[in-house]
Amino acid sequence: MSYLVLARKWRPKTFDEVIGQDHITNMLRRAIEQGRIGHAYLFTGPRGVGKTTTARIFAKALNCESYDKPTPTPCNKCPSCIEINEGRSPDVLEIDGASNRSVEDARELRNHIVYAPNGRYKVIIIDEVHMLTTEAFNTLLKTLEEPPSNVVFIFATTEPHKVLPTIKSRCQQLDFKRVPAALIAEHIKKIADAEGYSLSKEAAELITMRADGSVRDALSMLDQLMAFAPEGKITQDDAAYLLGIMP
Ligand SMILES: [Zn+2]
Repeated sequence: MSYLVLARKWRPKTFDEVIGQDHITNMLRRAIEQGRIGHAYLFTGPRGVGKTTTARIFAKALNCESYDKPTPTPCNKCPSCIEINEGRSPDVLEIDGASNRSVEDARELRNHIVYAPNGRYKVIIIDEVHMLTTEAFNTLLKTLEEPPSNVVFIFATTEPHKVLPTIKSRCQQLDFKRVPAALIAEHIKKIADAEGYSLSKEAAELITMRADGSVRDALSMLDQLMAFAPEGKITQDDAAYLLGIMP
């Protein structure tokens, strides 16, 4: 069996599981409950704090088949939720603006918008939207001017100042924060426990210090430390050594 990195294995599947972004998850839950779903959202914030994860949960919330309308608590059991969790939903298109695939991206985007969704909504998630190629961008702008009612765009960016005003003005902007160290420490302790490792408090502190608010970075460090600790114990010295931190 291939090893699944912790950040993927422990990726939050519900709004409740997202840590440190309550101001955003609460807002999205309320919008869903009140039936006020926007056409376009711009998720801003540093890397590894939950932007794409939250976008996928939102996509599940919009299309979950266990309910007859969008729900703040997607079931993670119906075919739609499972397909989205596995990254193979025909209703969800993810484009990485940083990858250089101009023509394909623009074509995929157009196709995706033209055809009606299988479920309730087509969700188009564009990561690092400020880096999108011109072709894809032009397609996007045309659509944003007259958005079809069953399409929701979720743009994510680490550099909101580079997103064109023409895009920004059509989006509801939600700013993700660096996750507080205490929350990350608690989170990685819980995961280390569940994986059968004992992570010392001091080691957890070193990881959170280095992670600087990024859950993904913290988990990737924990990955490294777990690989280095066959006895199942992760001490402060191991962490300092492996993370290259001087005592
Ligand atoms: Zn579901």
